[in-house]
Amino acid sequence: MQKPVIVCLDLEGVLVPEIWINVALKTSIEELKITTREMPDYDALMTRRLTILDQHKLTIHDIQSVIDKMGPLEGAVDFVAWLRERCQMIILSDTFYQFAHPLMRQLGFPTIFCNQLEIDHAGRIVSFHMRMPNQKKHSVAALKSLNFHVLAAGDAYNDTAMLGEAHAGFFFCPPDHLPKEFPQFPVTKTYEELKMHFAQAGNLK
Ligand SMILES: [Mg+2]
Repeated sequence: MQKPVIVCLDLEGVLVPEIWINVALKTSIEELKITTREMPDYDALMTRRLTILDQHKLTIHDIQSVIDKMGPLEGAVDFVAWLRERCQMIILSDTFYQFAHPLMRQLGFPTIFCNQLEIDHAGRIVSFHMRMPNQKKHSVAALKSLNFHVLAAGDAYNDTAMLGEAHAGFFFCPPDHLPKEFPQFPVTKTYEELKMHFAQAGNLK
């Protein structure tokens, strides 16, 4: 008998827009537009972002007010509903619970594994705590050890280890250079395409 299917999804760029790009647009701070797409070292990227926020005296409340106004990507709510009707779904993200919460509300609070920000009484983001290194890859490996058939989709460098660890991994709207570097992962550009691949790889009806 076929093992039960769990789909692991990246969050930003797959279900919701890039949080930091929106913050950059709203605050007109060009440097905040850099994401894991351009800078694969996430620790270095986050340290730089927090330094920039400090320089501009931006607090968690400023960031959350931007996130509050961001919705999921068009079609994401229906896509999540389609998946959850057919299999289990977990969002594996390198973002932080404090950022994700308003967006999770709009997606019906699916399960999400991410990280924590440390915030002081004035709302300054003091530091960030990654739950563990390479959580996306380790989460998929752990689910496999629990005897699930694991499928995954993501759009950036920080997803490639997860896609490689899964029984089947797919890119969703990646930047042009990424599939050239990782030609083993099929590229999808719409939720319909991704549904088709998941349905086939997971034998979903
Ligand atoms: Mg992403």
